[in-house]
Amino acid sequence: FLASATRRRPMRPPDGGAGGEPPETDMSMRLSRSIVGEAEAEAVHRVICEDGYLGIGREVQQFEADVAAYLGVPASWVISVNTGTAALHLAVEAVLGHGSGAEVLVPSLTFVASFQAIGGAGAVPVACDARLDTATIDLADAERRLTPRTKAIMPVHYASNPVDLDGVYAFAEKHGLRVIEDAAHAFGCLYKGRKIGSFGDVACFSFDGIKNITCGEGGCLVAFEAEAAHLASDARLLSVENDAQKRFAGARSWDPDVKRQGWRYHMSNIMAAIGRVQLSRLEAEFIPARRALAARYAEKLASVPGVALLHTDPQDFIVPHIMPVRILHGRKDEVKDALAARNLPTGVHYKPNHLLSCFNTGQSLPVTEQLYAELVTLPMHPGLTTEDVDAICEGVAQALAR
Ligand SMILES: *Cc1c(COP(=O)(O)O)cnc(C)c1O
Repeated sequence: FLASATRRRPMRPPDGGAGGEPPETDMSMRLSRSIVGEAEAEAVHRVICEDGYLGIGREVQQFEADVAAYLGVPASWVISVNTGTAALHLAVEAVLGHGSGAEVLVPSLTFVASFQAIGGAGAVPVACDARLDTATIDLADAERRLTPRTKAIMPVHYASNPVDLDGVYAFAEKHGLRVIEDAAHAFGCLYKGRKIGSFGDVACFSFDGIKNITCGEGGCLVAFEAEAAHLASDARLLSVENDAQKRFAGARSWDPDVKRQGWRYHMSNIMAAIGRVQLSRLEAEFIPARRALAARYAEKLASVPGVALLHTDPQDFIVPHIMPVRILHGRKDEVKDALAARNLPTGVHYKPNHLLSCFNTGQSLPVTEQLYAELVTLPMHPGLTTEDVDAICEGVAQALAR
């Protein structure tokens, strides 16, 4: 697949706008990027020029039906929203209520979105340590942080690996907790052969520009309980009762009731149109490309001294969204600098949340801090070629051979 893939480099927008000079091609490699083109543009054109209704309407309803069909769940369980963060926020409120003050166990090593969503719902994020082998939540550490106020756990499928999801659900059952999966990295992934978002309590996906599929921005939650799904569906439209269902039917209620706090978090028809095309490309195009790149990285880096790959779920179960690797012996910065000198970008996923002023309680999470000192994220997106990966791996190996 990759050997025959043509180099698709991002275009810089033309300075003069429509009708101006053709865009220059930017040859620099990107850490991650949207893979969108004519088909997505045509879908947006159709919504704007043929339909003319841009807000939440039939296209959004159809996107939810498409996602539900893909996951194998009823359409009413899939609630689309404008970001993955909004999905997490609504999920926390759907299971704990708004302003619960409850504590939610969450790994510190995650995008700040997970923490802000918990806080935004009026709950309290409790930062937990990570496992060194997978960078996912350490349940033994989480257990030590339980209090009578702990009501939920938010596992993060870091680098698209759900890892011990059975263990998370067993832990939750034992301690009477709800589970809110931050599956932002994991759209298209399987756990023990079942799709993430097809079982469980609540799962949240992100469709921001660089995730496994994109709507431009966007996200959705999948709630496996009618009451939670209904609460979230209303809450995304200011908690106006049944407003989404009415808008899907092209109608509105001018005499609604509102019983609780709500938000303007709904998805637009424009976003949904992009998402529907992206979803149609996922299995044939994006999944094999991402898996092939990850396999190539693993093959090239497995034997490089000083590099430790994270333990991943079986290759054919995961759709890698990012490619973080551990650089041992305090040599992370050397590797980053050496790659930068070759114009090869690297990233950091993530600065741990317990080190951010907003969430710093003075605690130390030793494994998370070790991972933060070691993890380097290498480029990962379907626009890369095998040669790109080889060049990156060569750069890593040479930096460490010095
Ligand atoms: C992207 C992401 C989110 C939030 O999604 P947005 O769509 O960007 O709001 C949440 N958690 C993790 C781990 C993410 O990577």
